[in-house]
Amino acid sequence: MQKTVDNPKKGLTIRKLPKIWLSSPHMGGGEQAYVKQAFDTNWVAPLGPNVNAFEERIVKHTDCGHAAVLNSGTAALHLALIMLGVGRDDYVICQTFTFAASANPIRYLGAVPVFVDSESETWNICPQAVEDAIKGCLAGTNGSRAKLPKAIVCVDLYGMPAKLHELRELAQKYGIPLVEDAAEALGSTYGGKHCGTFGDIGIFSFNGNKIITTSGGGALVSKNEHYANRARFLATQAREDFSHYEHQEIGYNYRMSNISAGIGRGQMDVLDERVAQRRHNFQFYRNALERYDGVEFIDEPNGSFSNRWLSTMLIRPELTGGVTREDIRVSLLSENIESRPFWKPMHLQPVFSRMPYAGGTVARHLFDLGLCLPSGSNLREEDLDRVIRGIRKVLEAKRNS
Ligand SMILES: *Cc1c(COP(=O)(O)O)cnc(C)c1O
Repeated sequence: MQKTVDNPKKGLTIRKLPKIWLSSPHMGGGEQAYVKQAFDTNWVAPLGPNVNAFEERIVKHTDCGHAAVLNSGTAALHLALIMLGVGRDDYVICQTFTFAASANPIRYLGAVPVFVDSESETWNICPQAVEDAIKGCLAGTNGSRAKLPKAIVCVDLYGMPAKLHELRELAQKYGIPLVEDAAEALGSTYGGKHCGTFGDIGIFSFNGNKIITTSGGGALVSKNEHYANRARFLATQAREDFSHYEHQEIGYNYRMSNISAGIGRGQMDVLDERVAQRRHNFQFYRNALERYDGVEFIDEPNGSFSNRWLSTMLIRPELTGGVTREDIRVSLLSENIESRPFWKPMHLQPVFSRMPYAGGTVARHLFDLGLCLPSGSNLREEDLDRVIRGIRKVLEAKRNS
């Protein structure tokens, strides 16, 4: 399936292979029936049978207790922090190695994120550094008033479960609620329990690039029914139960539409399959590339099961003969293959440069060395082969030179 593309600048015709995306939506086929149902019954609204059924499916699949589906994972995090009472100048401990959406809602509320480094086994927030950060907040060494953080936000990055038992114990020891950002980890488990269910509140995302998608959406989950109910209430403009519109609190318009939820129902039918496909991608890359010096893949620690949302690898230039992850990324791009550096840690982001930080250089090093490979569940073996050939070419060119 080669496309020919005219290149007017050079006056020649170049052959261009089809684009391989980092992570693109993958419909299962059943989604349209649920969406059609919504049209046929005129439930084209941010409520309806698909919304309820999608919530039930999430609860059944993950054993999370209760679920409220919303219009994004970011909205779910925002509501989680509101319900935990986070306000102006409060501290919220947050994993630094993550996507900005984990941290932004802390700032929506005027609170101060205290960013914390990762440990090298799972790349997620380091429990020891969390304890140091809590002590720092209690001692007032961050330049602000001494006080207990209002919440801890941990992340299961790229689908890899964080050290969730240790984090939960810490949270309990200090009496700080834990919010588990499992936006990337639907279908991952830790000690046999689903990611998203370890904190007081968990969140999922169904954005277009996630393991399943509703084109845009998220969920707030909790064993505590009060949180799910209150999230639904706040997400529908905090409208009180009156015949007229009565408001005693500030509300939000965060509910998921019945159309999106129809897509979500169809996607839940294929979630297990999607996890298996993404894990296959990872193993395929690993088998083909691990033999190269300086190329590393991350193991699942005992008891962890990652959905391998994104296939990731580390490239150590001191061992590859100087090849960096950027060399590989740029070369793949020239072959119409999308790959991406790891998330840039939040404490290194200009927008958060004045926020406190606890830890060392683990996250920074991961950012320097890490590359996310094309990871969609819709990739064919020939696509994976193309990626591998592209990477080998760069690794072997340097070795032979
Ligand atoms: C995608 C993502 C979010 C936000 O989810 P949206 O649905 O895009 O708002 C939050 N945290 C992490 C780690 C994510 O990857």
